[in-house]
Amino acid sequence: AAAPPVVTRFAPSPTGYLHIGGARTALFNWLYARGRGGKFLLRIEDTDRERSTPEATAAILQGLRWLGLDWDGEAVSQFARKDRHAEVAHEMLARGAAYRCYATPAEIEAFREAARAEGRSTLFRSPWRDADPATWPEGPYAIRMKAPREGETLVEDAVQGMVRFRNDQLDDMICLRSDGTPTYMLAVVVDDHDMGVTHVIRGDDHLNNAARQQMVYDAMGWPVPVWAHIPLIHGPDGKKLSKRHGAVGLHEYAALGYPPAALRNYLCRLGWSHGDDEFFTDAQARDWFDLPQIGRAPARLDFKKLEN
Ligand code: GLU
Repeated sequence: AAAPPVVTRFAPSPTGYLHIGGARTALFNWLYARGRGGKFLLRIEDTDRERSTPEATAAILQGLRWLGLDWDGEAVSQFARKDRHAEVAHEMLARGAAYRCYATPAEIEAFREAARAEGRSTLFRSPWRDADPATWPEGPYAIRMKAPREGETLVEDAVQGMVRFRNDQLDDMICLRSDGTPTYMLAVVVDDHDMGVTHVIRGDDHLNNAARQQMVYDAMGWPVPVWAHIPLIHGPDGKKLSKRHGAVGLHEYAALGYPPAALRNYLCRLGWSHGDDEFFTDAQARDWFDLPQIGRAPARLDFKKLEN
């Protein structure tokens, strides 16, 4: 059968301005989709009501427009889809892939304290995991995944290769909190599935999440997307990028007078290379961009390269 059309997405949390790491993630997703006649979607991950602001959403949209990255259709609000997230959590419950956990925060803390005192792993092991559903009481409960505890989970990643996770180090992650709100971990999977996303290209700070998110795909019988976790951007000194390295907000580059095309070219080369080419046209970038040429080491920001 022919491969399904490529669908990528950029899924920022609207908690601040668009920084260059996020802009690069968006660019990589855009290039990958546009170079293959696919779709590039935008999802605003605004489930954290305390930290999400409309100003941040506006700044992100404006930054993407300035950079020339157009998305297909309307931007999707993750918060608006919370009922759908809850529906999937309950479906996993019905399938026996998840369970109701009535443990209170105090009980969980007591478990951790005892584990610490005894030198055991502090990963919470819920006593409700194997309870007979017929004995589930009334009252508030969280929905947790019944994660495997033995063996390994393999994440096949287009950038990182095969990554192995020991299952005894994965917890029974919460999908729906006891107040009925979905967790980020669940919402991302449900949204990516429903939006038809085929390739998840994002920062490698999410690699661990992929191992846990795969459980949801498996429980629902959904195809796992192609994962591509890209190394983060570091400063010229090899340390995690921060303000002291200079401009980290996309708007700062715009204010400094850099043309969007120059910044696109620069961002494209942060962690991705095409032979010795230093500069390429938009058409070349779209034609050439592919996942295997993304480096496995953190990209280093080098402002001199932007200046020439
Ligand atoms: N909202 C997440 C973030 O801003 C990204 C989630 C994802 O790409 O899967 O880091």
